Amino acid sequence: MALFDPKTKTIAQLQKSIDDKNASIVSYFDEIGRLYYGQYKDPAADVSKDINARCDAISKLYIDIEAQKLKILFEKGLKLCVNCKKENPLEHAFCASCGNKFPEGSDKHVDIPNAECTNCPDGTNGPEVEAVPEETAKTE
Ligand SMILES: [Zn+2]
Repeated sequence: MALFDPKTKTIAQLQKSIDDKNASIVSYFDEIGRLYYGQYKDPAADVSKDINARCDAISKLYIDIEAQKLKILFEKGLKLCVNCKKENPLEHAFCASCGNKFPEGSDKHVDIPNAECTNCPDGTNGPEVEAVPEETAKTE
C-alpha cells in the first residue's frame, strides 16, 4: 500500500470525525450530569427539556458514528453482515459466516441498516448513506 493512499486519508478523516463525535458525547453526558444535579438541588427547576435535547443529540451522534464505522470498513474493502455482524469482503453476495444474503449493490455503496432514528421527529435519516466520495487520486 502506498504511503499517500487516498483511502488512508479518507479513513483518517472518518476516524477523526468519530473521535470528535465521541468527545461531544462525553461532554453531553457531562452536561446531563450537571443538569440532573441542578434538578436534585432545586426540585422546582425543570431541566427535563435540556436533558432530553442532549439525549437526542447523543442518540444522533451514535447513529452517525455507526455509519462512519461502516464507511471506514467500506474504504478497507469490507462490509458488515446485518445478521451476525461479521466482516465480509465487499464482493461477497452472501455472508461467509452465516450465509445471510447481502443486499443488491452492497459492494458499491455503504448500507446503513439501523439508520432509522425513532427519536427524530423530522425522520431525516434515510436507509442509505452515501459513501464518502474519493478524493481525486494524485499521481506523485
Ligand atoms: Zn452473517
